[in-house]
Amino acid sequence: MDGIVSISQRIAGIQTQLAALATGAAQPTVAATGTNGTFDELLTRAVSEFSPVATAAPASIPAVLNADGVPADLAVYGNGKVPSEALAPIGTTGHKLWAPAAAKFEELLAAAAADGVTIGINDSYRTYERQVELVGKLGLYPEGGLAAVPGTSNHGWGRAVDLRLDGEALQWMRANGERFGFVEDTPRETWHWAFYPDRVA
Ligand SMILES: [Zn+2]
Repeated sequence: MDGIVSISQRIAGIQTQLAALATGAAQPTVAATGTNGTFDELLTRAVSEFSPVATAAPASIPAVLNADGVPADLAVYGNGKVPSEALAPIGTTGHKLWAPAAAKFEELLAAAAADGVTIGINDSYRTYERQVELVGKLGLYPEGGLAAVPGTSNHGWGRAVDLRLDGEALQWMRANGERFGFVEDTPRETWHWAFYPDRVA
């Protein structure tokens, strides 16, 4: 995905400069060279001037977990207490995660789509209050239920997604999720995938 974005941006940059050439607005150093040389030079310059653009809101946030395994930049807020603006959207899905996780999950969704696989999202970041509600509905995981003890869920740090996966999509996630850092880390919950930045390929 980064590669595709990079190439698209380079092409856009080249097109902009070619348009400038066509209207005579190009810089003399470019205009003075031959046709092939001009294109090569434009390409070289576009590449040298290229700088990555964030795909998700605070994507410049480093993908670093602290000693407690908590996103370093979110630790100050507390599990399930993270303000919405400190999280990043997963594209247009309406779901939010820790920014590095959101960026990687967008890449994952694009890769799945390219393989003809559809992955739905049922849940992502979850507040502490919502986790308490879920315990009431689903029971505590350590007691055989399906909800983590409030204050301990990776959803409360924007590090986990609950997915809608058919058989093919589950197979795809098991084969490909980890290269985007998403790992099936909870027995009995094939829908639950958590983000481990150090597992990104
Ligand atoms: Zn989950």
